[in-house]
Amino acid sequence: MLVAFRISAVCLGLSLSLASSAQQKPSPLQPFLKEDAPILVLEHVRVIDGTGSAAQENMRIDIANGKITSVESTAAHRTYPDGAKVLDLTGKTIIPGLVGMHEHLFYPMPQRPQGGVGFYGESPDSAPRLYLAGGVTTARTGGSLDPYTDLELKKAIDAGQLPGPRLDVTGPYLEGKGTFALQMHQLADADDAARMVDYWSAEGVTSFKAYNYLTADELKTAIDHAHAHGIKITGHLCSIGFRQAAALGIDNLEHGIAVDTEFFPGRKPDECPGFSAVETYIEKTLDVASPEVLAMIQDLVAHHVAITSTLAVLETFGANRPPMERENAALKTLAPEAAKEYLAQRSLLAEHAASSKVLEKEMRFEREFVSAGGLLMAGCDPTGYGGVVPGFGDQRNIELLVEAGFTPVESIRIATLNGATYLGKEASIGSIAPGEAADLVVLDGNPADKIENIEKVDIVFKEGTGFDPAKLIQSVSGLVGIR
Ligand SMILES: [Zn+2]
Repeated sequence: MLVAFRISAVCLGLSLSLASSAQQKPSPLQPFLKEDAPILVLEHVRVIDGTGSAAQENMRIDIANGKITSVESTAAHRTYPDGAKVLDLTGKTIIPGLVGMHEHLFYPMPQRPQGGVGFYGESPDSAPRLYLAGGVTTARTGGSLDPYTDLELKKAIDAGQLPGPRLDVTGPYLEGKGTFALQMHQLADADDAARMVDYWSAEGVTSFKAYNYLTADELKTAIDHAHAHGIKITGHLCSIGFRQAAALGIDNLEHGIAVDTEFFPGRKPDECPGFSAVETYIEKTLDVASPEVLAMIQDLVAHHVAITSTLAVLETFGANRPPMERENAALKTLAPEAAKEYLAQRSLLAEHAASSKVLEKEMRFEREFVSAGGLLMAGCDPTGYGGVVPGFGDQRNIELLVEAGFTPVESIRIATLNGATYLGKEASIGSIAPGEAADLVVLDGNPADKIENIEKVDIVFKEGTGFDPAKLIQSVSGLVGIR
C-alpha cells in the first residue's frame, strides 16, 4: 500500500512540474512575499539586536542584496541609497530572525488505531512555512525521521523553490535497543553507530542527535565519528546522565534537567530507568538548587555543553497549558483529526495532571545554567501529544523564557544569537549588524514591554526577501498532522 501510494505520488509530482515548466514561470515564492525590493531602507523602527542589549528607538536599517549594510539612528539623516524602497516602520520592532535549535519536520500522526504504533508524519509543506511565518529563519532539526526528505527540502529551500528557513539537517536518530519508535533504527553496537554517522555525514547532514537508549560505548563512537566530520552532536538521553555525556564529549543536551536521569536513585549504567519513574522522581524529589545539581551545571559549562530549552512542549504536559487564547492561532493550522485528538488529550490532562512541578524546576534549572555561564538556546519540538506547532511553538518558548525569569531581550538572545553561536555562524546570522544576512522579523508593538508581541509578526525577512506570515499560514491551514 505504502509503496504503491508513493509511486503514484511521485508520478503525479513529475507530471505537475512538467506542466508548469511549459508556462512562463514567476518565482515560486511570489505567492508568499510581502516585500522583495533588492535595496530597502527600514526606518523609524525600534531595534532589539539579539545581543541582549536594550531596545534602541527610532533606528534605521539599510539592506542591499540580502545583507544588512548599515544600522544607525534614523535621526542621522543620511541620504537613501539609489533605488531604495523606504518603509516607515513607526511603532514596530525589528528582532533578528529566530534560530530554532530543536525543530522537527514531522508531527505526530492522528488516528492511531487500538494497538497501533506511535508514528510521525513528515510535514514537508506545513513545517517549513510555519517556521518561517513564526520568524524562524534558521532551523536545526533535532532528529530526523525522514532524512532524505529533510535534505531535499533543504536543497529546494536554498534554491528558492520552496519557502522555509535555512536548515541545519540532523541525521536519523542514533537510538539504542528498546525504543518506542518503529521509525528509528536500533543500533546493534558501536560499529553500527560509526557506520550510521559516516554514511549520513557523506549524504550531507550537518548535525546528529543521540536518543534515549543508546549505550555509552555507542555514544562515544558516534561523538568521535561526528567530530571527525566536523559535525556537532546533541542528545536527548535516558540511558546516560548529563555529566557522563559531557565527559564523553557531547556538544549539546536537549530539554534540560526535565529529562536528566543521573540523579535517579539506583540507576544502572547504560540503562534507561523508565520515563514515568524519572518524571515522578524529578517532580517529587529532585532539588534543582542542591549542590549536586549545581555541580552538574558547572561541569556542563566547563565542558562547553549547550542546553536547548524546549519549555513549549514541556508545558503541554501540565493542566490547561498553554492557556487556550495562546493556542487558538496554532489550532487553526491543525488537520481536523489532529485538532480533535489534541483537544481530547488536553482535557484529559486538565482533569488528571497535577500542577506541573517539572516545568517549574526546568525553568529554575535554565536560569541557574545561564547564570553559571552556560549557553542556553531554544526550540519548538513539535511532538508530545500534539498542539505544539512549528513557529507558534518557537514564539511560545520565548514567552515561557520570560515566565522563567529572563528579561525579554535576554529571552530573544537565547532564541537568536545563542543558537547562531552554537552553530558557529554568529558572524552572519543571529543578531542585527552591518555585514550580516538580512534575517529580520518585523513585529507590531514592542516585545520588550509585552513579550506576547512576539506573536504579532508583520514581515519576516530572510536574506532580505520579505515573507508575509499571514499568506504562509493561510496556505497550510488545516494541514498540520497530515502533510
Ligand atoms: Zn524533539
